[in-house]
Amino acid sequence: MVIILGIESTAHTFGVGIVKNKKILSNIKKSFTTEKGGLIPMEVAKHHRENKNRIYFEALEKSGISEDKIDAIAFSQGPGLAPCLLEGIKFAKELSLKLKKPLVPVNHCVAHLEIGQITGAKSPVMLYASGANTQIIAYASGKYRIFGETLDVGVGNFIDTFARYAEIGFPGGPKIEQLALAGKNLIELPYTIKGMDFAFSGILTNLKQKLDSKSPRDDSSNFSMQEYVFAMLVEASERAMAHTGKNELLLGGGVACNSRLQEMCRIMCEERGAKFFVPPNDLLTDNGSMIAYTGEILFKKGIKFSGEELDKIDILPRQRTDEIQVTWKSDARN
Ligand code: AMP
Ligand code: MG
Repeated sequence: MVIILGIESTAHTFGVGIVKNKKILSNIKKSFTTEKGGLIPMEVAKHHRENKNRIYFEALEKSGISEDKIDAIAFSQGPGLAPCLLEGIKFAKELSLKLKKPLVPVNHCVAHLEIGQITGAKSPVMLYASGANTQIIAYASGKYRIFGETLDVGVGNFIDTFARYAEIGFPGGPKIEQLALAGKNLIELPYTIKGMDFAFSGILTNLKQKLDSKSPRDDSSNFSMQEYVFAMLVEASERAMAHTGKNELLLGGGVACNSRLQEMCRIMCEERGAKFFVPPNDLLTDNGSMIAYTGEILFKKGIKFSGEELDKIDILPRQRTDEIQVTWKSDARN
């Protein structure tokens, strides 16, 4: 029996999750939100500092586990915003020393993938559509390989930037999803997919110009933005499935909460006779239990650090999914 506590702090969310033998016992989080402006790293770090203890104790209470029963502390090592990651690692190291339990560093993107296992997906292509990251990832020969990705910003950041420009507030994704329901007219936007990769800045400029133009604001820009951008993501995902011969699609990341994106993915999978998997919303957006869940897998493979080794563990704000040696899979090359 293994009990792992996981800490998430890469961006807007500070989360603590507790997992016992791959079963989620608690998943408590708080996300930074603002009506004006966006994600200012130092402000978000302050938010994490001010909320971490309360979230930690709430997660313990919800799980019914006492501190001394925890076997290891897993934390998000990267990628992410440095000031936010620092709050997480600091808290993780404090707990590791206090509880005398090892530290397990976890890559945030890999955790989004691993938690997908709870849906029953075995060897999926994953469309990881989050705030800062947008990648199409699949496991092949020892690594999670990136088959396609954004050439500029993450799709969530793109949506949030557009929302901020339209004075909708942060995070913009859920609000735009609601507004888009009222949109009926598909207006023409750039469709910027290049091979397996995609870009969003041209669409953002175009949308801003449309907002600035004299025509009255209506919801067709919200509706059309979703139709164009999600179609790009689904097209690249389908191509990755065709190339890899995989017949499962898994969604991950906060933007994956969007019902229209889920619907488009479901239709694409149905049309090609593939299976579609989507975890519940509280596991799609950043959360501590996906870190604990992945931490458990690594811990069981002996990936853990304690004592003087802790000094060598640092945050990795730019760590990439395909840098990670996935030594915990049965066919992995070491
Ligand atoms: P993550 O970084 O994975 O936690 O995802 C956060 C991002 O997901 C933010 O950019 C949000 O705007 C976006 N998001 C959350 N819910 C939705 C939604 N229903 N539709 C579109 N984007 C969303
Ligand atoms: Mg994420």
